[in-house]
Amino acid sequence: MDRETVFEILDPRFARLFIGTARLDMLFSDCRWAEGPAYFPAGRYLVWSDIPNDRMLRYDECNGQVSVFRHPSGHSNGNTVDRAGRLVTCEHGGRRVSRTEVDGTVITLADRFEGKRLNSPNDVVERSDGSLWFTDPTYGIDSDYEGNKGESEQAGNFVYRLDPETGSLSVVADDFVQPNGIAFSPDEKTLYIVDTGASHRTDGPRHIRKFAVLDEKLIDGGVFAEATSGFFDGLRLDTDGRIWTSAGDSVHCYTPVGKIKVPEVVANVCFGGPKRNYLYICGTTSLYGVRLPVTGAKTF
Ligand code: MG
Repeated sequence: MDRETVFEILDPRFARLFIGTARLDMLFSDCRWAEGPAYFPAGRYLVWSDIPNDRMLRYDECNGQVSVFRHPSGHSNGNTVDRAGRLVTCEHGGRRVSRTEVDGTVITLADRFEGKRLNSPNDVVERSDGSLWFTDPTYGIDSDYEGNKGESEQAGNFVYRLDPETGSLSVVADDFVQPNGIAFSPDEKTLYIVDTGASHRTDGPRHIRKFAVLDEKLIDGGVFAEATSGFFDGLRLDTDGRIWTSAGDSVHCYTPVGKIKVPEVVANVCFGGPKRNYLYICGTTSLYGVRLPVTGAKTF
């Protein structure tokens, strides 16, 4: 797809965020619902989830080949790479957050809060202090489509902070309908969290909230942006603090300056490539990518 088709300018500032020969690359197209991209710089590959197909895939950016990384995958959803280079995964099926150790063993980091099972962890990020922050909506237990149908055991759909060293798990936000994508600002003073509650409630939220991070707690949490097309889902930031987030028709760049138009509903994004200037885009059946003149914020 060419530049005019792909980039929609809402504010003149966006014109500087793509170059004249930029295009949208179609990298793979055999998913049922692509989600959860996570980039491994040491291996120069991307791992992502294909939730209903209960598998994870791996894209090798050196040769363009795609292979199955894990099947079954516990209906994995969001992924991230921690500072030690390990894969951290939200699993709907196992109702847990897992970590893949350097020897390949997959261990459970969190599957219960106060003795009761989590709902279905959706998306996760690491802070530089080693803590993991993740969301726990009900999508993975609502039906067998993207997990295993089951009952919620929690009093709400919370956002959690996990200390992997101690296993300590605490609720950092308890007023979401369906907490979803989650990402820190480059200085980690701000945490952005998506609420996709409109999927379950008429006139429910379809927005991004913005929290101040104070040690292990969140403050404020006002609405940062309302979705103008479908839902926001996942999001990542660049080093200048711009937000690149999935939406119904495209990737939206905030403060609202423009869109990268994608021919399918977009679920999530992440920066990759040796210079972190290649935006990987999970869009329903396909993995897309676009090279940008911006640099993704380090997420680990
Ligand atoms: Mg999500």
